Amino acid sequence: MMFSRAEAIQRIIDTPFQVCMIGGGATGSGCALDGALRGLKTVILEGTDFGSGASSASTKLIHGGLRYLQQGLAEVDFEQFRLVKTALRERRSMMANAPHLSRTLRICVPCRSSWDLFYYRIGLKMYDWLSGNSRLSGSSFADRRASLAKMRRLRADGLQGTVSYSDGQFDDARYSLALVQSAAQSGAEVLNHASVIGFEKNLSGKVIAANVFDRISGRSFKVNAQVFVNATGAVSDHIRQLANPQAEPRLQPSKGVHLLLPLPADFGVEALLIPHTEDGRLIFAIPWMNRLLVGTTDTSSDPAGEMVVNRGEAEYLLRHLNRYINPQFRLEEVVSATAGLRPLVQPVKLSQTKQISRDYEIETQSESGLISIMGGKWTVYRAMAEDTINTVETRLMGRVTPCKTRSFRLFGAEDEPDRLVEQLMKAYPLSLSVADHLVRKYGSFAACVLEPCREDSGLLYPIADGALPIRAEVVYCVRQEMAASVEDVLARRLGLQFFDWNLALKAAPVVAGILAQELEWNRSTERNALDEYVTLIENFQEKIRRFDAAEERTAK
Ligand SMILES: Cc1cc2nc3c(=O)[nH]c(=O)nc-3n(C[C@H](O)[C@H](O)[C@H](O)COP(=O)(O)OP(=O)(O)OC[C@H]3O[C@@H](n4cnc5c(N)ncnc54)[C@H](O)[C@@H]3O)c2cc1C
Repeated sequence: MMFSRAEAIQRIIDTPFQVCMIGGGATGSGCALDGALRGLKTVILEGTDFGSGASSASTKLIHGGLRYLQQGLAEVDFEQFRLVKTALRERRSMMANAPHLSRTLRICVPCRSSWDLFYYRIGLKMYDWLSGNSRLSGSSFADRRASLAKMRRLRADGLQGTVSYSDGQFDDARYSLALVQSAAQSGAEVLNHASVIGFEKNLSGKVIAANVFDRISGRSFKVNAQVFVNATGAVSDHIRQLANPQAEPRLQPSKGVHLLLPLPADFGVEALLIPHTEDGRLIFAIPWMNRLLVGTTDTSSDPAGEMVVNRGEAEYLLRHLNRYINPQFRLEEVVSATAGLRPLVQPVKLSQTKQISRDYEIETQSESGLISIMGGKWTVYRAMAEDTINTVETRLMGRVTPCKTRSFRLFGAEDEPDRLVEQLMKAYPLSLSVADHLVRKYGSFAACVLEPCREDSGLLYPIADGALPIRAEVVYCVRQEMAASVEDVLARRLGLQFFDWNLALKAAPVVAGILAQELEWNRSTERNALDEYVTLIENFQEKIRRFDAAEERTAK
């Protein structure tokens, strides 16, 4: 559904837009889809790649937020209950609108005291109750023996039993892309690697155009729109200050990291929630695409900082995981890791980021007219977008038209995933795991991915020995999903970088070769693209191995 970047840029330059979204993560893309469905002339400008910020570095849970429920109970704070209830309602829409990208996940809480058992049984019943009609499947208790039978890796010492409950799990990077594709299909223009670097204003000080730098071609151009929406997540203050240099900072970004470990065959299907940690937060160990995703941390962070995982952070997560798991995981077993910044809005001065609410706020700068949507979390992206577009429409037309996103099936979500897998296996010589992988990534467009294989059967080969993704996917990602770098392909579109850094390094030359062919790169551009990717991954690997006393302290 997407077009070439050069054509997209020309159309964007030539069009006067009603609304311009700055930032193509969950928030900006969600807003663009909502705006386009209401008939607004809409454009998304994404500075790096769609979903490359926090939106692909999450814990991949579509959840009400157990921790906010705990805070609500501890502080008798009804606002926290309201947040949980809203998120639980959104959880249902988010899962129903993209079944190929989401699923129900059972999460198990190991309890080592009678108090914990009582607390989690009551707390999770309350979570069930708050879910109302949006309930997935109710919470349940298992005694010690039954718990150890279903989760054979669980440490037996001190264990009294477990309480399990359900939440949603999703492919955050592909969900982000599906929002962009849905927005494009609904009439929005979309562009990645296009950074907003400044604004132009009219005589009364209102922003009327954005100056944009295209990182791929190196050229700059202007985008005209009646309303600009700042959806740049953790760096929102920078855009707010570009529009008004006197704007007070509002964001307190918080860094969160995840590790990916080999998934032990006997781990079981449920995720593990680690209820007691040194800093009072919850840590999850979640089966995810045949890996164990472990996270997360929560440390105040500079948005200009490098988004890598340092050894202190990795050791913090492993230390907590190993208190509940047997045999223990070692640092050397980490196959990949991710880091991202939560875009927390600071209401008052608070010292710990984990105390700041995950609620969101829409701000309109009175002079420049810039609208900023700040805070929130993935699960409530749709509600955030609805409120933002209501604000945009009120500015543009003095009234609000009905929002259409609550039950809008996203790009690729038209068919039932299991049926699609069967169809693919009938039409092409694919293993069940490859067919399933394709449907889980592209939904009903999986058949389009495979179309060029009719002419060139070599495209059915994996991009590296031992990897699920096939070469045809790279072609599709360039032609239809605006992938422009090795990282765009391996990190967000195929997910191999999160699955295994070493496997991603093995696949990188093949990916660079296909990119070169599709984008007509010369040899030196191809070599540079490959070198850039290898350096990126080696830097991740080096940071996680290196001991740094200062970073170690930050992680604690
Ligand atoms: C570790 C971690 C775990 C999380 N886990 C969960 C979870 O399990 N469930 C959940 O619901 N939520 C979770 N969240 C929260 C959720 O991921 C975020 O709230 C959400 O992704 C924010 O989306 P966003 O679009 O606002 O920000 P981002 O995804 O960061 O997007 C902002 C975009 O703006 C772009 N941008 C920046 N500057 C410019 C510019 N000048 N011009 C153009 N574009 C620009 C960036 O490149 C970026 O792509 C988690 C967050 C973190 C960090």
